[in-house]
Amino acid sequence: MTKVLSVTSECVPLIKTGGLADVAGALPGALAPHGVEMRTLLPGYPKVIAAMGRKKTVAQWDDLFGGFARVWRGKLGQQVLYVLDAPHLFDRDGGPYSDAMGRDWQDNAERFAALSYAAARICADGIEGWQPQILHCHDWQAGFAPLYLRELGAGDRVKSLLTIHNIAFQGITRASMIERLGLPHSGFNERGYEYWNNISALKAGLVYADKLSTVSPTYASELMTEDFGMGLDGVLQQRQEDLTGILNGIDEGIWSAPYKSPSGKAKHRRALRKEFGLPDWPGPVCVLISRLTEQKGLDLLLQALPALLDRGGQLVLLGSGDRALEQAFLDYAEVHPGVATTIGYDEALARRMIAGGDAILVPSRFEPCGLTQLYGLAHGTLPLVALTGGLADTVINASPAGLAAGAATGVQFHPVTAQALAQALMKLVKLFEDRATWTKMMKNAMAAPVGWSHSASAYAELYRDMARGT
Ligand code: ADP
Repeated sequence: MTKVLSVTSECVPLIKTGGLADVAGALPGALAPHGVEMRTLLPGYPKVIAAMGRKKTVAQWDDLFGGFARVWRGKLGQQVLYVLDAPHLFDRDGGPYSDAMGRDWQDNAERFAALSYAAARICADGIEGWQPQILHCHDWQAGFAPLYLRELGAGDRVKSLLTIHNIAFQGITRASMIERLGLPHSGFNERGYEYWNNISALKAGLVYADKLSTVSPTYASELMTEDFGMGLDGVLQQRQEDLTGILNGIDEGIWSAPYKSPSGKAKHRRALRKEFGLPDWPGPVCVLISRLTEQKGLDLLLQALPALLDRGGQLVLLGSGDRALEQAFLDYAEVHPGVATTIGYDEALARRMIAGGDAILVPSRFEPCGLTQLYGLAHGTLPLVALTGGLADTVINASPAGLAAGAATGVQFHPVTAQALAQALMKLVKLFEDRATWTKMMKNAMAAPVGWSHSASAYAELYRDMARGT
């Protein structure tokens, strides 16, 4: 068995703000059949500690970034979960990164440096007699861990992998924090963790981890370009040899359709329309489940929606985030009988929407992998997506060639503009009207491989190569 410690700031079913949590939660179970023993280290937010059953202290520090801290051992499914209980850093109301008002915690740099340091120490010292061979870091929150590991002198024994789930979040903090964070001064330069005179946790990870990965092959190449690299494209170009893209999968136990064939959807569509008081129009019911942010291209959708509604299509949207976008969709639904908006976070509703919808929309400006299009595929809820990142890798476009080959599973559009999105929506309605083609596409979608098996074996192989030093 290859022994891997996975370090993450969120993890289902305990704490989630986005796709990272799904991936971190699914990996240990998905990897076990591939000869990998993955244990997970997670911060001790109140919600996490409250959800732990029996727990046992397995490591402790009198002073971890300003206070007492210990590691609890618990369970994540069948696997071991380690929780960093550091009350001065994590015992507070609010989200993992921000307070109830959405303001970032002022001490986020220390909070996640502490998580990263604890991870490095577990790898350097072993824990409960268990010695990890690989330290798998997720996003900026674990970005300092590979550097701490080297500082502890364990960089030769334990290899590190950093996975980029979204390069938009970089964990930047001011240079005066160097000592507080216990970083070596020698790394404060262009070739180290310095970023425009600040400290970047993500850049630290990109520079000091032995290997890098991201969550789709297309995003891996996009990251090396100015348009998508968000200032780190140069660093990634330099590490091109060490960077791979491994697609996320979904938990097929949780996200399987409540029907076996396309005809099973009708009942769920009826229920969805009823739940939202939507009229029985002839066009497709489109659904969208998302954080409402600039990234997700929802402003473009507001402009393009008439192309759908004028042709008898409908939209059910669930999301939360940017206040202006929330209000815009609420206002839109007020005056358009074909649109329903729910602001909030509701997994059960997300499930009903995916089961009842005909199509799922993901018009993102960039999308490292994206999960909702995968849920859509599994349910024969055809994805209409921007041609970017993981959306490019997981959907087969209903192009003339895709249709002729009988392989299409959705609609892709490019460039990511309101106009191209409007055209894609018109195309979607046309496809929907052609019942034979639509049914064939639903069948293709439902048969598409969206589980973890392929990607789990890719991770397992990467860990094994790293442990062997190749
Ligand atoms: P990101 O990580 O950028 O938010 P992903 O598509 O990778 O995007 O993952 C988003 C995850 O969060 C999916 O599992 C999606 O279903 C879920 N999600 C997003 N918004 C909501 C919401 N308002 N209610 C329920 N689930 C949501």
